[in-house]
Amino acid sequence: MSHLFHAIIHSPFLPVPFRPGAAAAPSLGVNVAWPSRALRLPRASADKREQAMEEQGGAAALGWAARDATGVLSPYNFSRRVPRDDDVTIKVLYCGICHTDLHVIKNYWGNAMYPVVPGHEIVGVVTGVGGGVTRFKPGDTVGVGYFVGSCRSCDSCGKGHENYCAGVVLTSNGVDRAHGGAATKGGFSDVIVVSEHYVLRVPDGLPLDRTAPLLCAGVTVYSPMMRHGLNEPGKHLGVVGLGGLGHVAVKFGKAFGMKVTVISTSPSKRQEAVEHLGADEFLVSRDPEQMKAAMGTMDGIIDTVSAWHPIAPLLALLKPLGQMVLVGVPNKPLELPVYAIVPGGKGVAGNTVGSVGDCQAMLEFAGKHGIGAEVEVIKMDYVNTAMERLEKNDVRYRFVVDVAGSLGSAA
Ligand SMILES: [Zn+2]
Ligand SMILES: [Zn+2]
Repeated sequence: MSHLFHAIIHSPFLPVPFRPGAAAAPSLGVNVAWPSRALRLPRASADKREQAMEEQGGAAALGWAARDATGVLSPYNFSRRVPRDDDVTIKVLYCGICHTDLHVIKNYWGNAMYPVVPGHEIVGVVTGVGGGVTRFKPGDTVGVGYFVGSCRSCDSCGKGHENYCAGVVLTSNGVDRAHGGAATKGGFSDVIVVSEHYVLRVPDGLPLDRTAPLLCAGVTVYSPMMRHGLNEPGKHLGVVGLGGLGHVAVKFGKAFGMKVTVISTSPSKRQEAVEHLGADEFLVSRDPEQMKAAMGTMDGIIDTVSAWHPIAPLLALLKPLGQMVLVGVPNKPLELPVYAIVPGGKGVAGNTVGSVGDCQAMLEFAGKHGIGAEVEVIKMDYVNTAMERLEKNDVRYRFVVDVAGSLGSAA
């Protein structure tokens, strides 16, 4: 695999250079080359390359990064960290595109640390392991999800809920405290280095492109289903929203032997939900008659909608002691009238992805039941169009970048 490489590009010590048209960026100064110029640079000699890698870090990496809030992604050369004893080096094969990636590259949450290499639904193959790695060997098929580190000493970590650790290190646009606070670079790149504690084993037989979205979307719905007992045959599960998260919730619910009802504002999704994904019923949330007829029938609801929406009518669908789980994050507060939960003793919970253990269990379950996401596999040079389409929810149901099959040619 060939990379363009230049020592100066990777120097973390240089000031951010002038970039025509670029506002002063909150850059950490790691990669500073404007892509078009970087691509014109002559390839460094092997000697220089090795010297620079020694000085600056580990393996040279080629990714696609957003440089500013336009969110436009383009090729980007950087280096991964020098592998530690417990690190696994992974050649990225596929990486899913999550709504979070879109939010971060466009800085909707105000926390982007440009250049941002997105991607946290990663499936790849191990190419190297540190001396202390016990669970993986070169050639293993592995996954990496939403986070690649945690403090390992807090209450949450002690209980196996690393995803709720205050020191969690996100896979993309996270703060790698153990490495001088550098911004983490995600799976839109040919190689990634991750501590084995946060690497997942992908069971044999799962199609790798369809597995990638399980690493975030899949575990985000699987984890709360397990925690709240929404995994028992015969129970009735409601799934609100039929997108990247919702469609895998339907699949898990059916694999658990549950009755699954999809709840959506779009009547047009009925056929897809019932005939293609195997949902038992379909409710149009804007139809008061349908909603009334389904009142008090559900044991639990997974609400995946990230736009503002009324939740009281959804809570009315729950049986007494039923559980609502919110996994979408609308940017305006939802309204929770207390009458909607007090009389029936109903619960409302949130959920963010899942622990390492949950994620591994989810993959095993998916392997056993042949569950994969519905995906549209794209090449990296289509990624900007994919982001535009994702913003309009124009995807069934997840874009997955064929990283290994397209990054080489992009270079
Ligand atoms: Zn995600
Ligand atoms: Zn912790």
